[in-house]
Amino acid sequence: MGSNKDLSEKLNDIADILDIEGVKWEPRAYRTAALTVSGLSEDISKVYQEGKLLELEGIGKSIANSIKEYVESGKISKYEKLKKKYPIDFESFRKIRGMGPKRAYALYKALGIKTVEDLKKAVDGGKIQNIEGFGEKSEEELKKNLESFMNVKSDRLLLGYVIDYANSIVEKLRKSGLFERVEIAGSMRRMRETIGDIDILAISEKPESGMDFFSKMDEVKGIVVKGPTKTTVELSIGTTCDIRILPRESFGAAMQYFTGNKDHNVKLRKIAISKGLKLNEYGLFRGKDSIAGKSEEEIYSRLGMDIMPPELRENTGEIEAAQEHRLPKIVNYNEILGDLHAHTKDSDGMNSLEEMASAAEKMGFKYIALTNHSKSLPVAHGLDEKRFLELNKKIDSFNEKNNIKILKGVELEILKDGSLDLKNDSLKGLDFVIGAMHQNLNMSGKELTNRLIKAINSGNINTVAHPTDRIIGQREGLKLDFEKVMEACQKNQVLLEIDGYPERSDLPFDLVKKAKDYAIKFSLGSDSHRTEHFRFLNLACAIARRGWLEKRDVINTLEYKEVLKLRR
Ligand SMILES: [Zn+2]
Ligand SMILES: [Zn+2]
Repeated sequence: MGSNKDLSEKLNDIADILDIEGVKWEPRAYRTAALTVSGLSEDISKVYQEGKLLELEGIGKSIANSIKEYVESGKISKYEKLKKKYPIDFESFRKIRGMGPKRAYALYKALGIKTVEDLKKAVDGGKIQNIEGFGEKSEEELKKNLESFMNVKSDRLLLGYVIDYANSIVEKLRKSGLFERVEIAGSMRRMRETIGDIDILAISEKPESGMDFFSKMDEVKGIVVKGPTKTTVELSIGTTCDIRILPRESFGAAMQYFTGNKDHNVKLRKIAISKGLKLNEYGLFRGKDSIAGKSEEEIYSRLGMDIMPPELRENTGEIEAAQEHRLPKIVNYNEILGDLHAHTKDSDGMNSLEEMASAAEKMGFKYIALTNHSKSLPVAHGLDEKRFLELNKKIDSFNEKNNIKILKGVELEILKDGSLDLKNDSLKGLDFVIGAMHQNLNMSGKELTNRLIKAINSGNINTVAHPTDRIIGQREGLKLDFEKVMEACQKNQVLLEIDGYPERSDLPFDLVKKAKDYAIKFSLGSDSHRTEHFRFLNLACAIARRGWLEKRDVINTLEYKEVLKLRR
């Protein structure tokens, strides 16, 4: 029933609430007790049964009575009473940096924020900065801390928040002069949207010094195992990182083996066996003789197939295609010319039009579509017809003066009945319309499908934004009938979006691959809400690649003027 952890959280909740009520000393006593309980090596009920509660550090008579009550009934009446008055999820908020009890209460009082989900909505909608005692900067901070909390909530981390960190580790290793080669393998090399840990493979003539250097990096929080061929460390970001040092002649075999995925490797090993060979992380062998291993190309070629990009290695038909030399020529990261989903502070973004455009230009984009929210999404300061008209004038004059071009867009609410949030007239003045369902999502799958199809059939939207509406680690995708949605898209030449924002990564790659069979085309978007988010466009491209998309399948490979033509 109860557990040390649960009791400890309840004691901490009591402390938090007493803090809010301005009680002195007592909160501290409860916190100390909570810490003691959570650090016990035996169950609290055992301590109680042995009559040793009062021997524990920081536990006096009154708290001992609460613990007695807890062990006997699973409840603490003091806790129940206080919690009624303050129905706030303190347990989760404690895990978010900068969300002390007093701040949590201020948010509850001002915006009714009780849960992490409430908090996220408020932060995303830019609501916090207007509350007394907060402000833009603390909102920004809260947003960052909340994001990092969301990342650790599931045990897998979101690729979008780890990939730069991992690449910087690799860069440092390369620059150390202690390695001949350093590469990332694992699910990160396949660009899977979540990763379990970071796998690095290396070649080094000085393995011991290399491992010393690695284990002493700033990013390293602790060493799990350390040896000259394999070292595992815990990183400050909250995941582990393995580095393996390999002989030169096995490096390709190891890259292949540690990139995976598992099903892909199982099938490959079976093919090797059928040819009288043996494949493992050291090479491809005939008897005891290695016949390949230095490079991945060599291994795939010896097994009678073309090599495929790591993004394809999911055992979804890539091996058969490689054997028959019919692998798709998937879209390249550098073929993406612009971003077709971004917000400014006109709705719920953090930056101005000029700031966003200049950041995008620095990233090398030729254009971006500004797709601010429409009026029925008040939490995101959605714009009405009049405000869109003003913003679009600003965009026109911006485009006259600048090389990078802005498409006049909208992320248009698809309302409960499938109708659209802006009048047809004002939609005519736009260059790119993405339709989205953000509200009233607790309808049946059938109703949601019909709602979406009605919008697709309207002839007024270019693309369906983040089609499944999933939020990784927080919310599953909508139960839509995707075959029907895809048929409607094909019939109306409506695109599907791949939203690269890490939590979304939506459409997922398996559905992308399916949609390609319907000859549907795609738009890629970073869903940027601030200048730093444009890097997420690469993640959208990664999903496109994982879904076998070719250049012609992705609208973002077109020049600005060609994208403009789509609307007409
Ligand atoms: Zn959206
Ligand atoms: Zn958006």
